[in-house]
Amino acid sequence: MPNHLAERLRPFSTTIFAAMSELAVATDSLNLGQGFPDIDGPAELAQVAMEAIGAGRNQYPPSQGIPELRAAIAAHQSAWYGIAYSPDDEILVTTGATEAIAAVMLALCEPGDEIVMFEPSYDSYAACAAMAGASVRLVRLHAPDWWFDPAELAAAIGPRTRLILLNTPHNPTGKVFGADELAVIADLCCSHDLLAVTDEVYEHLIFEGTHIPLAGLPGMAERTVSISSGGKTFSFTGWKVGWVTAPAPLLAAVRSVKQFLTYTSGEPFQLAIARGLLFAPEEINRLGLALRAKRDLFCDGLAELGFTVYRPSATYFATTDIGEVAPEMDAVAFCMALPARCGVVAIPSSVFYGAGAGAGAGAGDTLVRWAFCKQDDVLREALSRLAKWRSVS
Ligand code: PMP
Ligand code: GLN
Repeated sequence: MPNHLAERLRPFSTTIFAAMSELAVATDSLNLGQGFPDIDGPAELAQVAMEAIGAGRNQYPPSQGIPELRAAIAAHQSAWYGIAYSPDDEILVTTGATEAIAAVMLALCEPGDEIVMFEPSYDSYAACAAMAGASVRLVRLHAPDWWFDPAELAAAIGPRTRLILLNTPHNPTGKVFGADELAVIADLCCSHDLLAVTDEVYEHLIFEGTHIPLAGLPGMAERTVSISSGGKTFSFTGWKVGWVTAPAPLLAAVRSVKQFLTYTSGEPFQLAIARGLLFAPEEINRLGLALRAKRDLFCDGLAELGFTVYRPSATYFATTDIGEVAPEMDAVAFCMALPARCGVVAIPSSVFYGAGAGAGAGAGDTLVRWAFCKQDDVLREALSRLAKWRSVS
């Protein structure tokens, strides 16, 4: 019989991303669902990993992460954001941001605690909150620019609130939280003595605006646990090298959990990401620049097809409202019909609402998320296939 934890996780039993990728393979569709690029990142980084394997760096590396990568993360945080972290006790390498999110929730939340976060939200937050026995309070982001009401955020904070979880740049909307919005969040954290957990995995995939880490705001360094990952920045999502930066006491708590989740992660990939983090800024920004042109190509095409397009400022996801194009159906029905009708896979954004397998009543019902981190030909082909939507009945 499943135990209580398995029961709590039942709504999350299959991730939508995996399910839709399987559907793409089964129907031989273009996969604009799960977010991963169809071109690998820099060959130089792959070479570092291959050489490391050849050089015998194949046994358990230190649980906290190899010194080269911790030093590179410290240098990156200092050079990009002016935030100083000690590689000795304020940086932890994890198996992707996914493990970081789980370890942070398990280390910092008590059963019954509340986590305040924005909706729509990335799927693993609510699942990890459930693992920790914590519950989630949601604050809505509103189209077209995904604004939030500061009063709603303040009202979501109660006596059991432990932390505010912020994902910027934001999946699925592509929003980059601005300085004023971050100041509101920081003020609430400080005045209610809350922790902040930030997921910044898209920090370098920005088209408009600037990524500002919450940890850099006044009063926030001592209460913020920041998470990032090399997967998006360097287009190696399968390498699963993530990290946590936090003040030493918080980091120690997260580290004690991480030790018993995975203990450590593969050294060759850590070495490669360490090299990447030391790239010159133009090199690190290169993928973002390429993605901006793809965003425009794809979003312009979707708009011409009649979709209402919410053009993202960052990430590799575009959100559309399908109300005009498919007035008779919701996003789930649309995305389930799309492979057979057009040979394209996308994600119904309703799954990002309600903090648990799309349990949100009606929210995001007509929103669809498209991953545009694909070759231009693939995007053009997807657009031409989507043009058939109206002609097939
Ligand atoms: N956070 C967000 C917002 C994401 O979109 C992803 C996606 N892939 C992750 C975390 C997980 O990152 P990783 O692949 O490094 O585990
Ligand atoms: N972050 C990716 C996305 O949003 C999915 C990663 C995963 O499948 N867990 O598409």
